[in-house]
Amino acid sequence: MPEKERALHQLHLDIDARVDNIRENNSDWLCGKGCDTCCRRLAEVPKLSAAEWALLHEGLAALAPEQLEGISRKVAALAVQSSRPVVCPLLDQLTGACPVYAQRPVACRSYGFYVQRDLGLYCHEIESLTAQGELADVVWGNHDSIDQRLTELGESRALTEWFAAWAR
Ligand code: SF4
Ligand code: SF4
Repeated sequence: MPEKERALHQLHLDIDARVDNIRENNSDWLCGKGCDTCCRRLAEVPKLSAAEWALLHEGLAALAPEQLEGISRKVAALAVQSSRPVVCPLLDQLTGACPVYAQRPVACRSYGFYVQRDLGLYCHEIESLTAQGELADVVWGNHDSIDQRLTELGESRALTEWFAAWAR
């Protein structure tokens, strides 16, 4: 396995371990299938390293042609959209599910379980519970370290750019 893919795989395993640990101690954790508020309110178009895109590309290529066409249309519309936040063009808006869940980017794996030093939590649902003191015993992951490891994977490009290069 190439070095960057191996590093991404290890990052996934480390995030999984953190997520499992939080879930084990909080069996009714909010994040789950159908809770898609974060996918519907992305601050920006998702950015991915080449290794993340290679994995995501595998998931996209395995979708039914008509589903992929629909996603491609949404990505093209997103490329010229100036308003923010944005809805992830990959989200199945009817079911609230991610069609490429197994291949999703790192940001989607860590969101809801990691905290960034200067920005704190981002999801309103989780922040509300935190403000009420209900998640006081949660040992959050450190998102700054995730960001550092993503930087080591190389340059990131917007999802719309990866799609445009794929379509050429
Ligand atoms: S981060 Fe928030 S909005 Fe996203 S799945 Fe978890 S609880 Fe739901
Ligand atoms: S890639 Fe999947 S999990 Fe990530 S924001 Fe899009 S729909 Fe949500």
